[in-house]
Amino acid sequence: MGLMSAYMLQKAGHNVTIFDADGFPANNASFKAGGMLAPFAEIEHMPVTFLEPCFESIRIWQDISENGAFEFAQRGSLLLAHPQDRHMLARFAQHAPQAQITDKARIAELEPGLNNRFSDGLYLPEEAHIHPQKAMRFLIQNLQHKIQQDIDPGHISGHYDFVIDARGMASQKTDSDLRGVKGELLIVHNPDLILTRPVRLMHPRYALYIVPREGNLFMIGATNIEAEGEPRPAVKSAMELMSALVTLHPSFAEAHIVEITAGIRPSYPDNLPRITQAGNIISSNGLYRHGFLLSPVMAKCVLALVEKKRNALYILLHERGHR
Ligand SMILES: Cc1cc2nc3c(=O)[nH]c(=O)nc-3n(C[C@H](O)[C@H](O)[C@H](O)COP(=O)(O)OP(=O)(O)OC[C@H]3O[C@@H](n4cnc5c(N)ncnc54)[C@H](O)[C@@H]3O)c2cc1C
Repeated sequence: MGLMSAYMLQKAGHNVTIFDADGFPANNASFKAGGMLAPFAEIEHMPVTFLEPCFESIRIWQDISENGAFEFAQRGSLLLAHPQDRHMLARFAQHAPQAQITDKARIAELEPGLNNRFSDGLYLPEEAHIHPQKAMRFLIQNLQHKIQQDIDPGHISGHYDFVIDARGMASQKTDSDLRGVKGELLIVHNPDLILTRPVRLMHPRYALYIVPREGNLFMIGATNIEAEGEPRPAVKSAMELMSALVTLHPSFAEAHIVEITAGIRPSYPDNLPRITQAGNIISSNGLYRHGFLLSPVMAKCVLALVEKKRNALYILLHERGHR
């Protein structure tokens, strides 16, 4: 959130200094994310009025993506279910009329690597994905003034026209509405499978994505656990992620584990983000499962507040009561 705000403000001609206590890139929630830009799939977690802002974010990522710097791709996502979970696809389709029903032949056309293992699916052609760590590095490279320092927004507000407070979970000390939702994910190397787009495997407990990345890497995640205390991934979650992966394609049994990691998503009770202003401090937080999906439009909103302009997302969050 902070990097994207700084990037947009700087691009608009403002003189920006960014502080992060953990350096650049920080090993924060954003650094652990999966990178799905999946508005339809996420509509379970937000009102439908957020669809347009989500698609605007995808357009912004596309606009700033340079020569594949952060693996931005908009090839849609494919939702698949094992026979016992087929009802989940039907339920999902009711909420997402844009989803195209795909049969065995269409799945084989979209992802031949899956070898006809699935007969039922849904295809959401407008969804996209990026590589979060590469996206963060891209934004960082383009920022001029970066200082590794732990700061209190209130203490520095006298030195700047505006302070953008995007401290994520660290704001919990003063913002008691914030809670942490743990997400765990797994990265593996599998040279024996080619996927061209993210696959969401309908799972009774989590929205599990398998996202292909360059170099035969695959990200699988993420869990969604209401427990912020323990930052390390649990054995149970690792087992669930791995077994889901192997049911997608047996070649994953021979894949090599690159990383198992966990992050804490800053979240408000309604799981929607908030932008508030007190004096010259603008706070932007609560991006929950949507840090990459929403930070571009949230940053645009921050820019509008700095420039005292109207902003559609601000109106949606404040005047329509989605907060
Ligand atoms: C496993 C997992 C998978 C996810 N997958 C997706 C996904 O596919 N798509 C998606 O859109 N979102 C996803 N998310 C959600 C997304 O990662 C979060 O919503 C997002 O990272 C929140 O970003 P943030 O900038 O608010 O917080 P953070 O990324 O935590 O950044 C806050 C920063 O503030 C710094 N800071 C804190 N206090 C201070 C201080 N006093 N002084 C200076 N610096 C300070 C911290 O060091 C940190 O770098 C996922 C999250 C997880 C955990």
